[in-house]
Amino acid sequence: MKILVIGSGGREHALVWKIAQSKLVDKIFCAPGNGGISQQAECIDIKAEDIPKLLDFARKEKIDLTVVGPEAPLAQGIVDEFSNYKLKIFGSNKKAAQLESSKVFAKQLMAKYRVPTADFKIFDNSDEAKKYIENKGTPCVVKADGLAQGKGVIVAKTIDEAKQAVTSIMQEKIFGDSGNKVIIEDCLEGQEASIIVLTDSKEVIPLSSSQDHKRIFDNDTGPNTGGMGAYSPAPVVSPELFKEILDKVIYRTIDGLVKEGIDYRGVLYAGIMITKDGPKVLEFNVRFGDPETQAIFPRLKSDLLEAMLAATETKLSKLLNSGGLSWDNRACVCVVCASGGYPGEYEKGKEIFGLAEAAKMKDIVVFHAGTKELRNSKQPKIVTNGGRVLGVTGLGVTIKEAINKTYQAVEKISFEGMHYRRDIGKKAL
Ligand code: AMP
Repeated sequence: MKILVIGSGGREHALVWKIAQSKLVDKIFCAPGNGGISQQAECIDIKAEDIPKLLDFARKEKIDLTVVGPEAPLAQGIVDEFSNYKLKIFGSNKKAAQLESSKVFAKQLMAKYRVPTADFKIFDNSDEAKKYIENKGTPCVVKADGLAQGKGVIVAKTIDEAKQAVTSIMQEKIFGDSGNKVIIEDCLEGQEASIIVLTDSKEVIPLSSSQDHKRIFDNDTGPNTGGMGAYSPAPVVSPELFKEILDKVIYRTIDGLVKEGIDYRGVLYAGIMITKDGPKVLEFNVRFGDPETQAIFPRLKSDLLEAMLAATETKLSKLLNSGGLSWDNRACVCVVCASGGYPGEYEKGKEIFGLAEAAKMKDIVVFHAGTKELRNSKQPKIVTNGGRVLGVTGLGVTIKEAINKTYQAVEKISFEGMHYRRDIGKKAL
């Protein structure tokens, strides 16, 4: 089969790496890809949001399955466009993608179908939102309705902070039209975990649990980022809790979507807060998590491509009947190495050293995110090309072993300004 993966981050490198292990695959393309992906797939210079060009490419190359990594093309309707041309594509259609592209849509669906989540109110008027904040008090959480690259959520400790968030989102429009509406919701307390499933609307196949680390600095301090590391499984999700999350969150949401006439095929990702009153949904995503994916796929023993095909073709029941997915019992840790200055401004083009040495280590994979391969010099080299640069990933019999091994690999790698958290996985110990 000819496969096209769309995206350029660590998640897409993990997808390409895992798909490459499938016996079904003959050739993988990636648009646009990165410096690591280019070693396993042919990278095509088309942006992930350029749907017309992607469509042309897939038709010309007769791609058998397109796999969409990031949310933006899903929210723009890439699945609907490809499906119009009978091209197979793994991901949610535009209506289903609203679960991520509109927090208002997601919250209203959760309220209607009794999916546990924080109590909330929706506002399209900033004065009313501020009045509500004054009456309600803090802490509270202010969320922009639309996509905001993971930056549209402000957990406010003071009334001033919450009102300032409303001003920035609704009046200054720092996220553009994504801020036409805001949600103000109760602040939840507890441990977070991610539950990611494959679904074809009829059946659900869960992946193993995971936990990511959103803040830039150790001990969850500093500003939010795209994710500084992850581990899988998340021991906080006991088998009983996993079942409760599937019953109360995943099945209710998918059944709710079906009742609304929405066909959901692809990935459903639920960000969960495990509160003293049970699991509650923080957010839904309609794609694999980044960097959770990098910590999950190395533990997946089954053929991912087969599973994604089954979800696309509404044949997950067949896969379930033949035993579902099988997992490596070992723990996996992914540590993100970031550019100096990230999540603020950072420079690109710094040469990365030690990649080959780290990759030689047993049970270590180095997934590339913001990297680029420079081929014009005598010796091709890999340089930084983004904020999150690498996801160094390691397996261990225990989480402690996985942590130690992964950090040993991280220490072999260097580039000017490189920084990373030193406490990834610590919560699981
Ligand atoms: P989201 O993009 O909605 O997942 O929000 C990003 C992060 O904000 C989450 O991972 C949580 O750490 C935090 N967050 C979101 N909603 C809440 C909430 N209701 N209570 C406490 N923290 C929240």
